[in-house]
Amino acid sequence: MSDRIIRALAYGGKVNIKCIDTTNLVEEARKIHGLSPVATAALGRLLTMACLMGSDIKESEDSITLQIKADGPIGQMSAVVDSKLNVKGYVQNPNVDLPLREDGKLDVGTAVGKTGMLYIIKDIGLKEPYIGLTPLVSGEIAEDFTSYYAKSEQIPTAIALGVLVNKDGVKSAGGYKIQLMPETTNEDITRLENNLKNVKPISKLLEEEKSLEEIAELVCGDDKILTLTSNNTPQYKCDCSKERFEKGLISLGKTEIEDIINTDGKAEVVCKFCNKKYEFSSTDLEKIKLIAEQK
Ligand code: ZN
Repeated sequence: MSDRIIRALAYGGKVNIKCIDTTNLVEEARKIHGLSPVATAALGRLLTMACLMGSDIKESEDSITLQIKADGPIGQMSAVVDSKLNVKGYVQNPNVDLPLREDGKLDVGTAVGKTGMLYIIKDIGLKEPYIGLTPLVSGEIAEDFTSYYAKSEQIPTAIALGVLVNKDGVKSAGGYKIQLMPETTNEDITRLENNLKNVKPISKLLEEEKSLEEIAELVCGDDKILTLTSNNTPQYKCDCSKERFEKGLISLGKTEIEDIINTDGKAEVVCKFCNKKYEFSSTDLEKIKLIAEQK
């Protein structure tokens, strides 16, 4: 089964819910980066969140970058998504290994860290991107984004992100984002909150092979939801190219490039998102130096 996302309206249109299955793309990320179980869960949650936010992108050229810089052993984390829900990401330390929590779950909060910042960078084709930031709440990622929506965007939001990992890899991964429309009553909110308290974790529901439509109904406690499916299939895809890295080398400037030519004679650049290697020979570098000189 391929990864999917749906949007649905519940409570007669007063509650907006997005539900996503990212099992395949999180497994892809695990394989590309050789992620440990806790790193798989952490990056998997961030990639899933990126896809949930990416489905809100209006213009085809726009993209969203999510970054977490905190004091946990996993180091810096990043995920980038475009309007077609192509997503990519990395963590600084993919091998981070921690004991399980007392409840038997992977300790994502400790891996990520409790003190740090969450950055939401929206590139919407303007000269400067829009940057939203908020301090981390717990490093568990879903809670951190819930806090971001409450503080920065003033939208009451409930977010769940889950990744189930066993020794063979990712068993299930996904999430949901529920947002309340202004016309929601206090009664609706209480009903929703009580329901959310009792619903099983998203990764468990996906593991039980429930459809996204069924999950949306269970999570909202409403069996009369209106589902709107998206044409976009979320997938792990890196858009790097030799030309893009060439631009990066040009921006280093003439002196720096000369330095590389004199010391190593060539350059090898590795993409952080997909680990693809790009070789630049001395001939390539001489050409790049010429371009840099003309700038
Ligand atoms: Zn790449």
